[in-house]
Amino acid sequence: MRIRAWPLLVLLLGTSVEAQPLPRENPVPGGIVIIPLGSDTEPAPVVQYDNQRVLVVSHAGKWQAVVGLPLSLAPGLQAIQVSDREGQQHEFSFTVQPKNYAEQRLTIKDKRMVEPSAEDLARITREQEIIRQLFTTWTDRPLNSLQFSQPARGRISSIFGLRRFFNDEPRQPHSGIDIAGPTGTPVAAPLAGTIVETGEYYFNGKTVFIDHGQGLISMLNHLSRILVRRGAHVNTGEKIGEIGMTGRVTGPHLHWTVSLNNSRVDPALFLPQDAMDNKN
Ligand code: ZN
Repeated sequence: MRIRAWPLLVLLLGTSVEAQPLPRENPVPGGIVIIPLGSDTEPAPVVQYDNQRVLVVSHAGKWQAVVGLPLSLAPGLQAIQVSDREGQQHEFSFTVQPKNYAEQRLTIKDKRMVEPSAEDLARITREQEIIRQLFTTWTDRPLNSLQFSQPARGRISSIFGLRRFFNDEPRQPHSGIDIAGPTGTPVAAPLAGTIVETGEYYFNGKTVFIDHGQGLISMLNHLSRILVRRGAHVNTGEKIGEIGMTGRVTGPHLHWTVSLNNSRVDPALFLPQDAMDNKN
């Protein structure tokens, strides 16, 4: 019986390796472009965009560059630089389309979260530098899947890219999505990876960073509890913490940022389409 089970196991593994749906393409600021390169029977090329390494996966017989586009990008012509194994440089250009993100106005009762003191600002600056460095993490490992699962159950209460005003003051645009849920709701890894940092930050509250490989990084914020340590490996769907309301929040929710080649991109592009049907 054991011997007979082997071909089935091999078949199942083979199927799961084949099924690696790419994220949905959306060539706008905060979106993703996917650029087919050479045959995947050759070694993977090294790709750069804006001096950052770019994620490359094999799909449909070709290497594909999966490029994150920063929210601050102006529409127009852009290019990636591709080095083949002989070290020859090639440029692949693409066009970024304009996108007008909606406004969102929020009222924050805790004034320190809108007008931080000088001391708080010093802490915020330190933390932003740590966070900025984490988003530039590059780990050279092949990705078996780019299909995320939603990290917590609940309604998508705030979508990506909203131009935000806190108490009528303009602030940074919303660089992730929010999933509303009661404090204590389990938060899971949206994709396998390594915990590269955990901490408690002024705006982001209790936070976990997961390095999924090749510059693809998840940041999960406002947790009430963190259940993983730096260096741990987590599988897709493995519990890493619980929803809370630490940091700058108007109620308990999970904020989830996805960073690709140091660009914050819309996490919804990595979720199955039906997962987004319950957004408000
Ligand atoms: Zn948020």
